[in-house]
Amino acid sequence: MATVKFRSGERIPLEMHRARMVQKISLLPVDERLAKIREAGFNTFLLKNRDVFLDMLTDSGTNVMSDNQFAAMFQADDSYAGSETFFRLEKVLVDLFGKKHFLPAHQGRACEHIIARTLVKPDSTAIMNYHFTTTKAHITLMGGKVEEIIGDEGMKVQSKLPFKGNVDIDKLKEAIARLGKDNISFVRIEAGTNLVGGQPVSMANMREVTGICKAAGIKTVFDASLLADNLYFIKSREKEFEKIDIIDITREIGSMMDVIYFSARKLGSSRGGGILTSNEEMFSRMRELVPLYEGFLTYGGMSVRDMEATAVGLIETLDMDVISQTPIFVEALCNEMQAKGVPVVTPPGGLGCHVDAAAFCDHIDQEEYPAGALAAALFIASGVRGMERGTLSEQRNPDGSEQLAEMELVRLALPRRVYTLSQIKFVADRFAWLYENRKMIGGLRFTDEPKLLRFFIGRLDAIGDWPEKLAKQFEEDFGESL
Ligand SMILES: *Cc1c(COP(=O)(O)O)cnc(C)c1O
Repeated sequence: MATVKFRSGERIPLEMHRARMVQKISLLPVDERLAKIREAGFNTFLLKNRDVFLDMLTDSGTNVMSDNQFAAMFQADDSYAGSETFFRLEKVLVDLFGKKHFLPAHQGRACEHIIARTLVKPDSTAIMNYHFTTTKAHITLMGGKVEEIIGDEGMKVQSKLPFKGNVDIDKLKEAIARLGKDNISFVRIEAGTNLVGGQPVSMANMREVTGICKAAGIKTVFDASLLADNLYFIKSREKEFEKIDIIDITREIGSMMDVIYFSARKLGSSRGGGILTSNEEMFSRMRELVPLYEGFLTYGGMSVRDMEATAVGLIETLDMDVISQTPIFVEALCNEMQAKGVPVVTPPGGLGCHVDAAAFCDHIDQEEYPAGALAAALFIASGVRGMERGTLSEQRNPDGSEQLAEMELVRLALPRRVYTLSQIKFVADRFAWLYENRKMIGGLRFTDEPKLLRFFIGRLDAIGDWPEKLAKQFEEDFGESL
């Protein structure tokens, strides 16, 4: 496993890989960082990557690929229909999850589109441990509703619970009794709950949830996008699986679920996505949508090169050295932050370190987007690009009121195998400075607010001149402008 104990007793992450290709990055001076975030409408999605020092926006499509993945790209079989590449990828996936059928799609949200079109009826409810932005948008677009049944502890920022992503079984039973099975489109389990801290779901919980659903005649859908981290946590936190092979854990998960889908931008560290099922009826309905929305059935909008890389990346997911790297680095970053008093989501999960912006900026009203403000302030202080995961990432209610997020988080995603320990320490140091100066951070307001998924392209302005004051303070404290 990729941690090592020094003689001092300190335990540190140790990379079980070496870099064989690198990309130069640069750190702009603070006055330029201020100008760039202003130009970007205080939305980190609108920054140009060339102006970013450490890009911790997301792990989507930014994980490092292995030598074997690059090598596989050369054997890609270019053809519109019946490509050998498709059959290679299909074989890996079918083998991994034990499902009969695989449908390709260009990325995770495209799978959600197809699944929502197939399973969501108007006014039906999709029940899930927690929603993901694009998941919810596709369900509501089809006239459906989303209900979340994550355990109460999952909503607490700080906790010691090892599986905070777990479904609350009582809430599940209550929802089924209240809604009735015919009004439930499906029960969805998201591995490594993206929006609430990358928190895993245990096998024990998945067994219980799928057992209840099967008995009630309700379909189960598994979002496997963040499965790699979740597999690591099942192996390292769930005693029963300590010595069980990762492939056997994956197959058991596969056997429990009616539909599995994933973003290959995360799982498999490549690009693309796909849906798996053994249910013939659902398969034939979903299959018709693939050529219409994605591409022919043997590529589904993916490039054959990416499909080859995905096939190899999926097999590499069975290696503990590969899947442990992100969770161990996330833990290292969370520990550094906590040692400096910065409030973060605990226990550390997968995906990234999540800073509690509600506690950090408790002087900023939720309607003035504390997490968005903190993400902008972080860019000014460090050139690090994080992502708002709070009220800004929610959609307004039909009456136009804000849907206040249950957690206000700034996510510092750690794309797999990209950053080094010194870069992690840099982030923690600049965040600690920001924490000391947190009262200088002010709120944001929209100047241009799209109706759908506003966080992607919406533009905001700072309320007052706090960004300028913050940049000036930074220059004074650091003496130099970096
Ligand atoms: C990223 C992600 C998606 C969407 O995948 P894309 O490939 O970005 O469209 C869906 N679910 C979860 C949990 C994700 O993390």
